[in-house]
Formats: sequence, structure tokens, C-alpha cells
Amino acid sequence: MVEKPIIILGAGATKACGGPLTDEILPAALNGQMEHDNTKTLVADREELLWLMKEFMSDCFNVPTDRQPIRSQDCPSLPMVLSMLKRSIDSNRPIGTWDGERLIKAKRAIEYAIFAVIEAALRYPSGRPLHRELLEPLYLRHLKPTVLSLNYDVIVDNEMFTLGEEFGNLYPPDYSLNIDTQQYNFFRDMGVSGRLLKIHGSLNWLYCEKCQRLDLFVSQGMRTGRGMRTAKALDELYFSVPHNDAYSCRGTPCRNRPTCDGFISPILITPTYFKDYENPHIEKVWQEAEWAMQEATRAVIIGYSLPTDDVDVSLLFKRGLSHLKRDRITVVEYVNGDINKPVSERTTVENHPTGQRFRSLFGDGLDWHTTGFGGWLDEQRTNQLFPFTSD
Ligand SMILES: [Zn+2]
Repeated sequence: MVEKPIIILGAGATKACGGPLTDEILPAALNGQMEHDNTKTLVADREELLWLMKEFMSDCFNVPTDRQPIRSQDCPSLPMVLSMLKRSIDSNRPIGTWDGERLIKAKRAIEYAIFAVIEAALRYPSGRPLHRELLEPLYLRHLKPTVLSLNYDVIVDNEMFTLGEEFGNLYPPDYSLNIDTQQYNFFRDMGVSGRLLKIHGSLNWLYCEKCQRLDLFVSQGMRTGRGMRTAKALDELYFSVPHNDAYSCRGTPCRNRPTCDGFISPILITPTYFKDYENPHIEKVWQEAEWAMQEATRAVIIGYSLPTDDVDVSLLFKRGLSHLKRDRITVVEYVNGDINKPVSERTTVENHPTGQRFRSLFGDGLDWHTTGFGGWLDEQRTNQLFPFTSD
């Protein structure tokens, strides 16, 4: 039987390798931990933008901006802020004393901050490269894995671009989206190296609501990330997409000029907001995700706690994975200290809230682990099991 693994990554997978976590973006921006693009953005513009963001966060979300450094527990969730801004702008209603043009400016300031922070974080990756350790053995066996990510960050994107460069004739991952970025399509049309389905959107997707064009933001930070080798053809992809276009606090124009005069924003969808979000690209990814899961011969779910209000993801898992034998569904959680205990003394599926929710969905017999992403990988390697072999 041909192996068709699907790897499903939740927030815990990002946390295990040191971020950057979505929740860390707002405090990082408010603390000024951003890449400085002095050639494109005037210092005065940056100052105005930072001041605007601080004022908005303080007025509307009670962030103590007079305190340094600002901690992530002092900030609201980033997708929630962006969703509240989008809904208020669309319906022309205020948030507190902020309305009209000021709300639009606040939204653009935050979007600018996202790109600047992620760019800075990607230039200096830290932590163990767990995504690479997971995927590389699959590429070595000439498998093209399907990865379903519930995260907005681009850690797995970077690793898949790198692995495609090293093992797949420079083929990029297939996002199964209608991306309009010419250079990405040029490479993708030659072939793809695995699939990457991001059902909650991504920080590197630039969407224009007006004409529904979707561009991929391929930054220099991605190019200089961990393990990247020099390849002339791929340089073309990275440097021909003008990443500095994304750096404009006055709003980033849609690249469909002169036909469209809209502005682009990254796509980040909060679980509870999904139903309201009429985005044709996101609908397509959810459909592709369900089909990919139904074709899978094994699923590995890492760092996803299956929260009770995440109705759509629960349904997706139920519809997509029910055909699998239960021991072919691996669930990896993290319980502090379990890695040092013998298997018989670790937290059982019945005694863990995440385990209980997965058990309700799929029943008994799941391949349940509480050793965390890194611990699970170590044990699989030692025991010569998936992803290091097909067993
Ligand atoms: Zn447009």
C-alpha cells in the first residue's frame, strides 16, 4: 500500500520549537521587536504607526502600554483583534471612541507590525527544528507528505520550501489555493513537493477583498532561514516578489493594478469567526483538507487540543479521519515530566482533557502520546517507527 500520511499541526507544535507564536506578535510589536526596513519606510512613518497601535491597544483593549516590556498576557488575541476590526470597519460601527478612518488606520498599523515582527523572527530562528526532524525522513523516503496546519505562522512553510529545495528539484509545496503570484506559479507548475493546507489562513497570504486576488508573501527572512542553501532558480522566486511592498503602513496596494484599487491584508481566521468569513480561498482549502484526510493512510496530530468551541475542526476531523484504524491516528500532547516516566505511568487518554475529547470523537485504541513533539520524535527514532520507517 502506498503511504499517504497526513500531519496535522496545532499551536503546540509551534510552541515546542520556540515560536514565533501568534500570541507573541502583538507584544513584540508594542515592544519594538521588529525588522527595520529603513530603506522603504520613513522613520516618521514608523513612529506614527507604533504610536497609533499603542494608543489603539490601550484605548480599546486595556493594554498597559506605559509598562515595559509589555507581556503577552496583557494583550488580546491577535486574530480576535483583527476580526473585531474587520467586522467594525465592514459595518461602519465604532470600537469605543475609534471609528471610520481611524479604525482603518489602526488595522493597517497592526498588519504592518505583523509583517515586520515575523520578518525579524524568521531571520533569527531559535529552538530545535522539530518540523524539519519530522518531515525530512519522509522526503528521504521520496514521500510527499500532506501537512494540515491550524497555525498562522510560517515555520512549516519555511521547512517545506527548504526540503523541496533539497530533495524535490526545487519544487515548492502545493497550497491547493488559487495563488496569483506569478513566480510561485512558475515553480509550482514544474512540480510540487508535498501539500500544505492552512485552514485558518496564514501570515504570508495577502488577500484583496475587492478583487479576491491572493498573493503569496515570500520574504527575504524566509530565504535566509535555517538550512537554506543557495539555489539560483529559487533566488528568483524569493527576490522577484517584492516583499518590501508588504511594508507600508499607509496600506499595501493590491498587485492587480491598474484593474483594482483595493488593499491587501493577511488572512487570519479565528475558530468562532469561520462561518462568517466569506472567503472563497478559505472555503477551497477546507474542502481540499477534507479530501486529503479521507485519502490518508495515517494521521499524526501534534499539539492540537481540540477545543470544545472549535466545532468546524471537530467536524472536519470526524468526516476526514473516521476511515482510519484507530492505531493509525496518532495524537501527541505534552504533559510536563511524562517523557521521564515509563509508558505505564504516563497520563492516559482517559485522564487528559485532550485525550477525552479525541476519544469521544474516535473511540478507543488511539495511538496516544504525552511526551510532546520533541519527546515523541526521539522515541519514534529510537524505536524505528514512523516517520523514520513506514511502521
Ligand atoms: Zn484587488
